[in-house]
Amino acid sequence: MNKERLYIFDTTLRDGAQTQGVDFSVDDKLKIASALDNLGVDYIEGGWPGANPTDTEFFHTLNSSTKHSLINAKLTAFGMTKKTGRSADNDPGLSALVNANTPAVCVVGKSWDFHVDIVLEISNDENLENISESAKHFVRTEQEFMFDAEHFFDGYKANPKYALSCLKSAFDAGARWIVLCDTNGGTLPHEITKIVTEVTKVIPGKNLGIHAHNDTGNAVANSLAAVWAGARQVQGTINGLGERCGNADLMSLIPTLFLKNDFASKFQLQIKPEKIKNLTQCSRLLDEILNRKPNQHLPYVGAAAFSHKGGLHVSAVQKDPKTYEHIRPEEVGNTRNIVVSDQSGKSNIISRLKTIGIEIKESDPKIKKLLDEVKDREFIGYSYDGADASFELLARRIIGKIPRYILIKEYDVSVKKSSSGEIISSAKAQLEVDGEKIICEGQGNGPVNALDNAIRQNVNRLNKYSEYLKDLKLVDYKVRILNTGTEAVTRVSIESTDSKGKNWFTIGVSANIIDASFKALVDSLDYKLFKDKAPASL
Ligand SMILES: [Zn+2]
Repeated sequence: MNKERLYIFDTTLRDGAQTQGVDFSVDDKLKIASALDNLGVDYIEGGWPGANPTDTEFFHTLNSSTKHSLINAKLTAFGMTKKTGRSADNDPGLSALVNANTPAVCVVGKSWDFHVDIVLEISNDENLENISESAKHFVRTEQEFMFDAEHFFDGYKANPKYALSCLKSAFDAGARWIVLCDTNGGTLPHEITKIVTEVTKVIPGKNLGIHAHNDTGNAVANSLAAVWAGARQVQGTINGLGERCGNADLMSLIPTLFLKNDFASKFQLQIKPEKIKNLTQCSRLLDEILNRKPNQHLPYVGAAAFSHKGGLHVSAVQKDPKTYEHIRPEEVGNTRNIVVSDQSGKSNIISRLKTIGIEIKESDPKIKKLLDEVKDREFIGYSYDGADASFELLARRIIGKIPRYILIKEYDVSVKKSSSGEIISSAKAQLEVDGEKIICEGQGNGPVNALDNAIRQNVNRLNKYSEYLKDLKLVDYKVRILNTGTEAVTRVSIESTDSKGKNWFTIGVSANIIDASFKALVDSLDYKLFKDKAPASL
């Protein structure tokens, strides 16, 4: 059967950039565009040329440097329909779009009569003329023209005849695409099905796109419903980035269209099968650029999407992953993750050991010893679910051998408030390497920071290990107060990284916050020395 072509339109750089707290630089935009182009989306909406200097420069850079030119995707510039009382040729907004010199343009206009009246304060006919004149303008400049029908679904519910006449004004004037926008994001899947079906009676489905927002948690479902009802272009963003509750998440839509048979058997995407594996990487790249912690629970690409915790689940997954997985994680570039917890049995531990390269028989008594140790520690407040590095160190200490590196003999932390009101934290630590005692001192913003500085700002004095530790960085530090059976304890988690860019997580638990921090910090140092194969202390 001949498959129908379905087009993917990414608007991370335009609609996604509207998100609170998101401020892409030109360089960020170039990185994201290159990842999307490599993935193979059909259109990349780069921004609004003329509206801000970053977007203008982004289009200029892509046009003027072959190094950045796109191979698979059509670069698309975004703008608004021409203003009333001006000709299209004399409209500065449209000129900025022409000057951006992109193969495609996406122009937003009103399709809800309420907005035409209240926001634009023009007549319904004037709005129709603005739409059709804008379309004709880009047909003349030979740029592929898309009309974004803003608030289309709300407009259709209020006045279907007028909403459809807006679409027709653009289509009859030569628009390649008519994009139906659920701008307020309040439309539900069954309404999308009904309305898109009606629209296809006026505009062919092969010319229709869907732009859904996630205000009812249905942006992905609405996009799929629109495709099922006939639309052939899907708009969305990486990780569903977008204002309020976000846009439709392409990291869910693309694998669904590609891997779920009802869609895969009917539709053909430009994205090549082998590129689907890049989705997880693409999702993480955006978080890295935004300096955000990735959402573990994102469908398909989240770190927890293929995590298994319960003992029964884990043993079933080991027999056949299909028991608890809807697709194979490798298909989207993700990995299976066996989580250790106090509910877990031996099979969890064995699987987790395998992922860190320790092969051991189920009958080995050390497995039981490790499992008991994990359970005991979880009882007092440890949680190894996220603390991979601390788990690995614990396992290697019990099962195999782990060298001893820096011995921390004692430490002393003090907090002082001076007469001027300044609070000073200082720390002193006595370390031992190869039998030699080294006293380190440091000050910091709080006792934990002072202790960290005392140890790590003096690594140059630990001759043997200074090379290994100098690129170590702590990127995140979290404190939780837990109520265990008898007393309140503090759990400290530290996320560390180094120049190789792979982050690791360690944990410490104690009734005392400084001691808990200290344990997590020492695990971080030990893990770094272990993974970089530092020699043992004598
Ligand atoms: Zn939008």
